[in-house]
This record gives sequence, structure tokens and C-alpha cells, in this order.
Amino acid sequence: MTRPLNIALLGATGSIGRQTLDVIDRNPGRFKLFGLTEGMRSSNREAEHLVRGQAGEEGFDAQVEAMVTDPRCDLVVVAIPGARALPPTLSALRAGKEVALATKEVLVMAGALVMKAAGAGRAQGGLPERQGIRPIDSEHSAIWQCLWGEERENVRRLIITASGGPFWAHPDLDLDQVTVEQALNHPRWSMGPKVTIDSATLVNKGLELIEAHHLFGISLDAISVCIHPQSVVHSLVEFTDGSLKAQLGRPDMRLPIAVALAYPDRLPEAVPPTTIGEISGLEFHELDETRFPSVRLAREAAVGGRGRPAVLNAANEEAVNSFLAGELPFSGILPAIQRALDAFPGCRESLEDILEADRWTRDYLRNKSGTVGRA
Ligand code: MG
Repeated sequence: MTRPLNIALLGATGSIGRQTLDVIDRNPGRFKLFGLTEGMRSSNREAEHLVRGQAGEEGFDAQVEAMVTDPRCDLVVVAIPGARALPPTLSALRAGKEVALATKEVLVMAGALVMKAAGAGRAQGGLPERQGIRPIDSEHSAIWQCLWGEERENVRRLIITASGGPFWAHPDLDLDQVTVEQALNHPRWSMGPKVTIDSATLVNKGLELIEAHHLFGISLDAISVCIHPQSVVHSLVEFTDGSLKAQLGRPDMRLPIAVALAYPDRLPEAVPPTTIGEISGLEFHELDETRFPSVRLAREAAVGGRGRPAVLNAANEEAVNSFLAGELPFSGILPAIQRALDAFPGCRESLEDILEADRWTRDYLRNKSGTVGRA
């Protein structure tokens, strides 16, 4: 490469954002921080485009739009949480940019729209090694790497691994009594509070199932989830000849970030090498869907379509916030999601309708007697 890759980073001060800055800083000849957004905190960085504030604030959305569609921008890292990431992701893809995607909600809410935008952007050209969307979610990075050089018709099944969170290994624990501190105590990964709670409920795996379905074009019933408490095997792909391929490594998000930024190259010393001791004694277990029904719930929402995955996502965010605020027991999170899904009348899958389904769900759960009228 003759010049560094110009990177726009949406969400520079969150966990993924800070680790992305670390990968960029350690490879100055290869990457350049071309633009960034930051919220309340400052990253103390300079860049061509520096956008401060929150989505929806005056001027913010237009400045982000200008940044991600700037002809000099090569790659957009999407690491702002939730529904706010959707419009700029669509803009970047439509402008033919490579997108390194950490925000799974984008594909959960609007997978069909996003993949269509990726295809349209690709048709416009761009980098010769263009991929479209490069996953940063560790499981999807693993599956992506397992698929490199493979023919799609030879893939039989994707197997997403789950650590199981803090409660899986304690089947006698009463989930009604779980405290916020217990739920935030993830055994393997250090992450933000939302995704840590999603790991404890396994809703995270439900969202990742939908994400994988769209990203890799694999049918929902050919994707399964298994419990792997050591979090060393990040996911697996089964092929028609009976082969299983897996990607292994330390639970360190800088590795999938490095893979996404450097594709199709690999960055030297992106993370310390995994020792044989670290990969000994690996265990895999079937997921108990009776105790943890999240994956089934997500699969049903995705099969139902018509905005249901967006409702699933928004209802989960609302329920997790209520749990973190001490207003809802841990065991109330999934029933709240189910209530919203049951009440939702369905919608078209346009950006406007999906964002409206997101708002509808939050209103519905915030005032449960609220109107459920919108079609
Ligand atoms: Mg993940």
C-alpha cells in the first residue's frame, strides 16, 4: 500500500473505539485516523473530521454524513452503540466505503437493507480487495476467517460459541435473585455493561445469530450456538465433507479489530500469541434453551421478520436498562422482550419503518398501557 488507509472511527471513546485507536497508533505507516466522533468524553485526538456530540443533536448527523462519504475516507469503523449507528452505516456503504462493523444492532435491525447497501456500494467500485462489511464482533470475525478461500456451497453449518456468561455454570442459581454486580461479573471478556448483561442472558447470542444470518447469507436453521466456557474458540464452520474449521485466540478484541482493519493482510504482533497451555482443556456443551430461551426467541423474531428483530433489539435495550437501574429483576428481561414481540403489529422493512419500530417498542415498554396501534 502506497499511503496509509484513511480511517473514520464512529465512537472513539467507547471500549471498541479505544482499542481501535490502539491498533491504529501501533501501525502508523499503515493506518491514519482520518475522522472520529466522540460523545461526552474526549479522546484527545486530532483528525481531518472531528465530530463531537450525540446522534440527533444539531449538526451532528450532517457532519457524520460528510465524514463517512468524504472521497478521501477509505474505511469506516462503526463502534457507536445501538440504532444510532444505522443511518451512518448505510451512508458509508452506499458511498462505496469499506465498513468495519462492531455494532451488531445494525445488522439485527436492518440486515436486508444493510446488505443491499453493501452490494450497491461494491458495484460502484472502491478498493480492489473490497469486502463491503468486515465484522469486528469476535464470533463473526472467526467465521469470516474460516470462510476465506472457501466456496459458499460447501458450507453446511455455522456454530457460534458462547461463554455462557456468569450464570451458565450455576444451574441451581435462582435467576430472580441475581444482582446487577453478579450479572456484570463476566468470567472471560471485559466489555461494556450492556453487552455484559446480554452475555449473561445469552440475548447477545440471539443477536449474533441474526447478525451471522445476514452477514454470511446462511439460513437461520443452519446456525447454532454452543457453550464454550473458555472463550478460546471464537466460532466454527462445518463443511459438507464433515470438516470443522475453527478460529482460536485470546479473548482480546484487538485481534478481530486488527483483522478487520488490515484485511486481507495480517498485522504482525496484533496480540500476544496464544500458548498451548491456554488452549488445553477446552470444553463444549449444548445450549439449554429451556433455561436460556434467548436464542430461540431471536430465531423466531428473525423468521417472523417485518420489523420483529428491531423490536427484539429495542425491547432488550429497554429491559437491560431497567435491570441496571434496579427496576426489573434479571429474570424479567426475557418476558419483557416477549411481551413487546407479541404486541408488535409488524411493519415494512424500510429505514423509516424500522426506526419507528424501535421507537414504538421503547414507548410500549416505558408505559405498558400505551397505545399499541401503529401498523
Ligand atoms: Mg460477540
